[in-house]
Amino acid sequence: MIRIGAELTGDVDVACDVCVIGSGAGGGVLAAGLVARGLSVVILEEGGHHTSRDFRKADEAFSFSMLYQDRGTRATEDLAITLLQGRSVGGGTTVNWTTCFRTPERILEHWRRHHGSTLTAESLRPHFEAVEERLGIARWDAVPQNANNDALARGAAALGWTWERTRRNVRACANSGYCGFGCPFDAKQGMLLTTLADAVAGGADLYADTRAERIVVEGDRVVRVEARVLERERTRATGVSVVVRPRVVALCGGAVNSPALLLRSGITDGPVGRRTMLHPVVGMSGRYDEPVQGWSGAPQSVTVHDFVDRGPDRVGFFLEAAPVHPMLAGVSLPVVGADQAEAMGQLGFSSSLIAICVDGLVPGDEGGVVTVKGDGRPSVAYPFRPELVEAFASAHEVLAAAHLAAGAREVLSLHPVPVRLTSERDLPRLREAAYGGLRHGVFSAHQMGGCTFGPDPATSVVDLDLRHHRVPNLFVVDGSVLPTGLGVNPSETIYGLAHLAIDAVASTT
Ligand SMILES: Cc1cc2nc3c(=O)[nH]c(=O)nc-3n(C[C@H](O)[C@H](O)[C@H](O)COP(=O)(O)OP(=O)(O)OC[C@H]3O[C@@H](n4cnc5c(N)ncnc54)[C@H](O)[C@@H]3O)c2cc1C
Ligand code: SF4
Repeated sequence: MIRIGAELTGDVDVACDVCVIGSGAGGGVLAAGLVARGLSVVILEEGGHHTSRDFRKADEAFSFSMLYQDRGTRATEDLAITLLQGRSVGGGTTVNWTTCFRTPERILEHWRRHHGSTLTAESLRPHFEAVEERLGIARWDAVPQNANNDALARGAAALGWTWERTRRNVRACANSGYCGFGCPFDAKQGMLLTTLADAVAGGADLYADTRAERIVVEGDRVVRVEARVLERERTRATGVSVVVRPRVVALCGGAVNSPALLLRSGITDGPVGRRTMLHPVVGMSGRYDEPVQGWSGAPQSVTVHDFVDRGPDRVGFFLEAAPVHPMLAGVSLPVVGADQAEAMGQLGFSSSLIAICVDGLVPGDEGGVVTVKGDGRPSVAYPFRPELVEAFASAHEVLAAAHLAAGAREVLSLHPVPVRLTSERDLPRLREAAYGGLRHGVFSAHQMGGCTFGPDPATSVVDLDLRHHRVPNLFVVDGSVLPTGLGVNPSETIYGLAHLAIDAVASTT
């Protein structure tokens, strides 16, 4: 049964086999697997329960305030990186752009060599196959890519780079382009429609609008989870409490929130909060003579990976397109006044190409750090290492070259005073620009790390079964266990790891 905050008028005290905190990529897959094993499962989700009836409004203001952390305003502590992160039943999978990749072999090898991992493509294969089947993950070439993605494909082809169509978790996708606001057509196979539906149909209780405030450990065992019901519109506690007394807790609140909850709970063992990876994103806007209408059509259908491995000492990046909707564009373009009006006026002719930088791989790159503020809210500090700044500069040249080769009449950077290019001859001007934090727009939709896995309690928070090193009935099953960026969009890696974790969690009950 799904219970929403408005229905929860009296305190709740409930026992179960497993309490799953967070209903996103990790929590959804895990909860369904545990219910299928006959276990009693309580899922706590701080966001609301919204469905395609709400998403049909295609209202950006509604979606940002209801479906994203901090109403879409989450950022690093210095405001240099905007953090887009999901917050509703289904977590990030309710608002993500559906691009799916298995974990690349290069990353698995890096983890084996540097993080004590034993994961291989072969050991993960059955888990990827299972989630691909349930979530309809397949190459998506039902219709041609939209003009926004086609700019990347044309530019890449003209420059001799390899581009390919993405795999997506959709069934009968209407190609509307509104994935980021919740799918209005129930085509996206996020957790809301798949694993959470399976879990609830199998008897799980899901408490929406209910934030886990503290995981209480006595001795070396979790004895209860204390949660508060939130008033949905104002995100304030209603005064109603939910206490869950499980045999096992699976923390699935995602990177940033999972380490923050451990810290709030005084479970501070190991490098909790450290190695927070963001896959920092830079973008360039191309203006075309023909309409692009980048709000229409599947948001990410083309990808280029030619630059993802730039050698052991340089930060690699991969290229995709970002959808161009008015509100997202409005907050992404760092221009104001007449310049903003002009940019918004050109929106229908603008394509947005992005470079997603792969953090955590070059020697010494420890990513960022999550801490908690006095009021218990998370704070993310993220340093701009020289290798990352160099990658930003290189990525700008690559993105500009792609736009120009695709036929853009003008290319603009996301600096407060944009660098404007109209031909390849202008490319050297990008080298004169400044790069790094607060120099230009930087974004993240892929948060990872903070509760990393590994065999050594000194350098990791959970073991290779995703079990907390000190507290054996506590697991972390979400993107926060990943020790590095992935070089691909992360959702399928998290689905696969959550599927892998089902056995260990179930056998602990
Ligand atoms: C706009 C956008 C586009 C994206 N596009 C893609 C894409 O195309 N492909 C891809 O692979 N990835 C994409 N991602 C990233 C992907 O969705 C995430 O990496 C993934 O969902 C993370 O899974 P998770 O289980 O770690 O956490 P989440 O899916 O974020 O789930 C965590 C859940 O826990 C809840 N929670 C947190 N703390 C608490 C608490 N204390 N109590 C109760 N509940 C709590 C949160 O509200 C949230 O619902 C995108 C993300 C965004 C925001
Ligand atoms: S593009 Fe497809 S999956 Fe995305 S919102 Fe539209 S119909 Fe849903």
